[in-house]
Amino acid sequence: MTERAIQALSEVKFLPYWLDSDQAPSAEAALTDSIETDLLIVGGGFTGLWAAIIAKEKNPQTQIVLIEKNTIAFGASGRPGAILSASVMHGLHIASEIFPNDLDTLERLGRENIMAFKETIERYNIDCEVEWTGELTVAVGDEGMPMVKDEYKLHQQYGHEAVLLDEQSVQTELNSPLFKGGFWSKKNSGVINPAKLAWGLKRVALSLGVRIYENTSLQQTKDEHTHLIVTTDGAKIRTTRMLLCTNAFAAGHKKIKQRVAMIRDRILMTEPLTHEQLNRIGWKNRQGAYDTRTQLNYMRLTKDNRMLFGGRLGYFMASNPNPQTDLTVKPYIRLADAFFITFPQLQDVRFTHAWSGPIGLTTRMAVHFQSYYAGKAIYVGGYSGFGVTASRFGAEFGLAKLFNENREELNLEFASTLPNWIPPEPFRYIGSKITMYALDTADEKGGWRIAWLKLVDKMGFPLSWTTGDEPNETNER
Ligand SMILES: Cc1cc2nc3c(=O)[nH]c(=O)nc-3n(C[C@H](O)[C@H](O)[C@H](O)COP(=O)(O)OP(=O)(O)OC[C@H]3O[C@@H](n4cnc5c(N)ncnc54)[C@H](O)[C@@H]3O)c2cc1C
Repeated sequence: MTERAIQALSEVKFLPYWLDSDQAPSAEAALTDSIETDLLIVGGGFTGLWAAIIAKEKNPQTQIVLIEKNTIAFGASGRPGAILSASVMHGLHIASEIFPNDLDTLERLGRENIMAFKETIERYNIDCEVEWTGELTVAVGDEGMPMVKDEYKLHQQYGHEAVLLDEQSVQTELNSPLFKGGFWSKKNSGVINPAKLAWGLKRVALSLGVRIYENTSLQQTKDEHTHLIVTTDGAKIRTTRMLLCTNAFAAGHKKIKQRVAMIRDRILMTEPLTHEQLNRIGWKNRQGAYDTRTQLNYMRLTKDNRMLFGGRLGYFMASNPNPQTDLTVKPYIRLADAFFITFPQLQDVRFTHAWSGPIGLTTRMAVHFQSYYAGKAIYVGGYSGFGVTASRFGAEFGLAKLFNENREELNLEFASTLPNWIPPEPFRYIGSKITMYALDTADEKGGWRIAWLKLVDKMGFPLSWTTGDEPNETNER
C-alpha cells in the first residue's frame, strides 16, 4: 500500500490547491504612512474579512482598517477542506457536551449565521463554487455507529433535516468497504471554494470603503487609555478599537497563546476524477463527508471533480507557521495510505497537491473571545478546525463584545467564559506529540493510548468519543 501511496504522490505540488489559481487578486499595498482609524482589524482570513463587512454594513461611517501580515487567505482560510456546517461550535455532539445550557441558543444562532452567510454571498454575487449538498457522517466499522446515532438523534431533536443510513444506503451515497452506516444532514451545509470566498469577501470589503493593507504585520501595541497605538513593520496606527482575528497565530497579545495551541492538519487533492472513476464510488449527491476514525478523515469533491482527502495532524515546536517538512512527501504518506484503504477502487488515481494549514486548537474546540487593554481589543478565534461558517459568527460576536452591544447572548457561557489554560513549551510539544501518536494508533492498538487520551480529556479537550467513555462533566471551562 505504502509503495502505491509514494507513487501517487510523486508529482505532487506542495501548495494549497485553492491558492494555486490565476484568479487570485493582486495584493493591496503595504502600510507605509502612519494613520488613524476607528476600528483596526488584524488578520485577513474569514474572521477579519467578515468583521470588516459586518461592521461597515452596520455603520458605514465607521473608519475601518484591516492589516494582514501576508496576503489575504494566507492562513487557515486559504487551506481548509471547506466543508460548510450549520454548527457555530464543533458540531452538535461536542457543543452538547461543553455548552449544554447554551445549546438551544447556539442552534438558533447557527441557523441565523448560515442564513446571513448565504444571503451575503448571493447579494454581492460572490462566485465561490458553493454547493448546498449537506454533511455526511460515515461510521468506520461497527464501533463508529454509536457516535453516528448520537449525532443523528441530536440533529433530529434540533429540527435538522437528517436521514440515518444503514450499510447499504451509506454505500449508495459514498462507496467504501469501510463504511458501515452514517447519517446525512441535508440542509444548511455543503462545500465551497474557500479561496474564492475570501477573495470575494475582500472585494466586498474594499467596495464598502474598508482600507486593506497586505504584507503589513502588527508588531506591538501600546495602550494610551483613550486609544491604542499599534506599531506595524512600516508605520503606526492610532485606533479606538482593535479586533484580533489572528486565530491559530495568536498574534496581538502574548497571553492569547495560553489558551490557543497551533496544530497543523494535512490535506491531499487528487487529479480530476473521470466519470467512470466517479461511478466507482457513487457520490452523486456530492456531500461534504467526515468519518468516525480517531484520527478523523474528511473528504469532498471540487467543482471539477477532484477529491480532497484530509486529516493528518502534526505539531511543530513554537507554532512554526511554515514547517519545511510539510513541503516533502513523507508526512503525507499515511494520509495517502488512508485514502487507498478507504477507496481501494481508486488505485489508479494520483495526487496533484499536498499541503498543511494552521488550526487554532482550544479545550472547548470552538471559538472564544479574549479581552485586552480594558476592552479596547478583543481576540476572536480558536475554531479548532471548524470555522469556515463559524468565522462569520465569531466576527459578529467579537464585534458585539468590542462595541459593548446590548445582546443578551453575550451573557451566556459560550461568550463569557474562556477555554482552559494549555501548558507552555516544551510540555505543549511533548504532550501534543504523544497525543497525536495515540490518536493515530488508538483504533488499532488501544492500551496505554486510550489511557492517555482519557487523561487529555480530563484536561478539558473533549476526546471522550475517542475513548468510548461518557462525556466528562466535571471540567471547569
Ligand atoms: C487543513 C485545514 C482544514 C480545515 N477544514 C475545515 C473544514 O472542512 N470546515 C470548516 O468549517 N473549517 C475547516 N478548517 C478551519 C477553518 O479553515 C478556520 O477555522 C478558518 O479559516 C479560520 O479563519 P480565521 O480568519 O479566523 O483565521 P486565518 O484564516 O488563519 O487568518 C488569520 C490571519 O492572521 C494573519 N496574521 C497572523 N499574525 C498577524 C500579524 N501579526 N499581523 C497581521 N496579520 C497577522 C495570518 O497571516 C492569517 O492570514 C480547516 C482548517 C485547516 C487548517
